[in-house]
Amino acid sequence: MNDLYPTRERILKEMDNTHPRHPPNGYIAAINKWKTSWYYPWHKKLIRDKRLSIESLIAHLKETNRAHPRQLSFRWGNSWIHTKTLLEVHTITGDRRNPSILSALHEFGHAIQPDGISKREHELRACVFSIGLFRECFPREFARLEWKGHMLRRKTK
Ligand SMILES: [Zn+2]
Repeated sequence: MNDLYPTRERILKEMDNTHPRHPPNGYIAAINKWKTSWYYPWHKKLIRDKRLSIESLIAHLKETNRAHPRQLSFRWGNSWIHTKTLLEVHTITGDRRNPSILSALHEFGHAIQPDGISKREHELRACVFSIGLFRECFPREFARLEWKGHMLRRKTK
């Protein structure tokens, strides 16, 4: 396991430590608003409809991000990743075969971090941001996830 990634214990501890500042309220409201028109019924959606929903989710999150306004664009590719150019243009790339809410929140969590923090800290903060928000806004789904190392996956039956 790459030690860039925090352990489950570290993520959960950090989520509790930062409570109640975390997850930030603006994001909870934005996600709940997004849910009313873009979420249901998630597991019955076609993959292309999930992609549209994820694009809308990113747009809702961006609108909420007043603390760290960024030039941030989103596109579909072959894996979930956040990149930043020297000119401070942030790009989130989503895995077109796996339009995942938790992954979108995670990469967005990277995009809003301040400059100058270590890669490990960056990773920890993105995990805490995304998992904290997911736990808050999708409690039933959160309960159905299981940890695989530092990652959360849907339980396979
Ligand atoms: Zn990450």
